[in-house]
Amino acid sequence: MPAKLSPQLFEELQQRAGSGVEILTEPADARFQDFAKRWSDIDRHAPAAIVLPETEEQIQKVVSWAVQASVPFVAKSGGHSNWSTIGDNGFVIDLSKYSAIEVDAEKATAKIRGSILIKALAVHLADAGYFAGGSAVGNGTQVGAIPYFLNGGASITTSLTGFGSDQILAARMVDAQGNLVDVTSESEPQLLYGIRGAGQFFGLITELTIKIWPLQELGNGQGLVWSGRFIFPLDRAREVAEAMKVIMDNDKESTGGLIMAICPPPARKAALVVAARHVGNIENAKDTFAALYDLKPLIADGGPVPIQNISDGREALEAKGGFKTFGTIGLRRFDITRFLQTIDVWKRLVEECPDAINTTYNFQWDSRPPRQADFESANSLHDIRYWQNNIIWYTDAGSHKRVAELNAECLAVSRGPDQSEYADFQNATRVDPIEFRFRGEGKLDKLRALKEKWDPKGVFTRQLLN
Ligand SMILES: Cc1cc2nc3c(=O)[nH]c(=O)nc-3n(C[C@H](O)[C@H](O)[C@H](O)COP(=O)(O)OP(=O)(O)OC[C@H]3O[C@@H](n4cnc5c(N)ncnc54)[C@H](O)[C@@H]3O)c2cc1C
Repeated sequence: MPAKLSPQLFEELQQRAGSGVEILTEPADARFQDFAKRWSDIDRHAPAAIVLPETEEQIQKVVSWAVQASVPFVAKSGGHSNWSTIGDNGFVIDLSKYSAIEVDAEKATAKIRGSILIKALAVHLADAGYFAGGSAVGNGTQVGAIPYFLNGGASITTSLTGFGSDQILAARMVDAQGNLVDVTSESEPQLLYGIRGAGQFFGLITELTIKIWPLQELGNGQGLVWSGRFIFPLDRAREVAEAMKVIMDNDKESTGGLIMAICPPPARKAALVVAARHVGNIENAKDTFAALYDLKPLIADGGPVPIQNISDGREALEAKGGFKTFGTIGLRRFDITRFLQTIDVWKRLVEECPDAINTTYNFQWDSRPPRQADFESANSLHDIRYWQNNIIWYTDAGSHKRVAELNAECLAVSRGPDQSEYADFQNATRVDPIEFRFRGEGKLDKLRALKEKWDPKGVFTRQLLN
C-alpha cells in the first residue's frame, strides 16, 4: 500500500510555489470536499492535497516540485472523466483557477488555457462569430475543453470540422521534468502528432491553439443547428430502427444524434428516444426526418438552437456524484438485428438493477463521415461515424459488477464477432487493449516511443508504457 502523504510535505510546496497558490490539505473542510467532487464516484479517491495554481508559472513550479520530490499527482480540468482522481499517496493539480480564452479573428484561431469548459468556450466563440469543432459536444457542457480536444473529441460537427484533436494547431506543455515546452509543427512535430489524439499522456497541457470556424459554415448564416426529439414506445424499436436506417443512409443531409433506450422522468416508462440534430439549412430539417414523423411518435418536438446552447438542459447527467461512466465503442455500420439485441440487454439491466434506471444504451450516428485531417496524428477514429455510446449511471455500489457485465455484453453484441473491426474511443475508456484505441500501421509504436522520450517514468499516467 503506498504511503499517505503528510500535510507538512505541502508546506515545502507552498514555499516553492509561493503563497498565491492555494493548497487544500484538510479532507474534512467543505472547500476540500467540493474540489474533490467528480462527475463519477466510480474509483474516486480522496487525495492528500488539492493544489490550485492560478498561472502557468505556478503550474510549472508545482509540477517541478512534484517531480523532484517523486510525489505522484494527476491534473484535473472539468473533472468529467473517471481519471482525474488519486489517493492520499498523491495530490491533484486542479486547474479551475487557471482558465482563459483568446480569439484571433484574423487567423481564425483561439488560444484556450487551463480548465476552460466547453460551454464557456462555445459562448465566447459564438459572441465573436465563431464555433469550434467542440463547441457542441454531443452530451456535455461542463466537460473540460482541453482534455476533450486532446484525446479525440467527437462533436455534432465532426463531419464538417473533423474531430477535436484535428483542431489543435499548437500547444504549451509542462513536461515530466517540469520544463515548459512550446509544441508546434516546426519545433516539436512528433510531439504534436502525439498530442493530437493522445495528449492526456505526455505532460500537462497549459494551453492549446485551436482552429475556429465562422458561424456561417453551419450553413444557415445564423449559427443555428436544428435539434429535436422523437419519443416512441420501446416495443416499436424495429420500426424506428428501419426508419432510422433510411435517415442514416441519406448523406445529402448532415444529421446525427442518438437512438436511446431510456426510462425518461417523470413517468419512467421504457421508451425509445431519438435525439436528433441537423446541421445545414434549417428549412430542410423537418423533411430530413420525415421517416420518423411518418411513424407518428408519442412526442415529436424540435427547432433551431444556437450552436453554443445545443447541449443545454443536461444538468442532471452532468452533475458531479453518483456512479457514472461511458461504454463507448466505434462501429462500422448500423446493424438492426444487433441494435435490437442491445435493447434486450438494456431491458434486463433496468429489471435486474433498478438503481441503474438512469442508464441509457445509445446508438449514435452521423450521416456523413468525419472530415479527414490533412496531417497524420495519434487519432485513429477517422473511419468511424457510428458508435455504441452507453451512458452508465447507477446509485448502489452493490450494482458495480452486474452493471459492468451487462454493459460488456451490450458492447460485445454491437461489435459482432469480427475482431479486426474493433475501435475504442480514447476519451471514453482506458480499459480494453490499447490497440483498439490507437489503430493503424506503426501508430502505437510511434506513440510508445514518444512516451519513452517525454515521460518514461509514467508521471502522466502509465498509458503507452509497456
Ligand atoms: C456528460 C459528458 C458528456 C460527454 N460528451 C462527450 C462528447 O460528446 N464527445 C467527446 O468526445 N467526449 C465527451 N465526453 C468525454 C470527455 O470529453 C472526456 O472525458 C474528457 O477527458 C473530460 O475532460 P475533463 O476536463 O472534464 O475531465 P478531467 O477528469 O478533469 O480530465 C480528463 C483526463 O485528462 C487529464 N487532464 C486534465 N487536464 C489536463 C491537462 N491540462 N493536460 C493534460 N491532461 C489533463 C486528467 O488527468 C484526466 O486523465 C463527455 C463526458 C461527460 C461526462
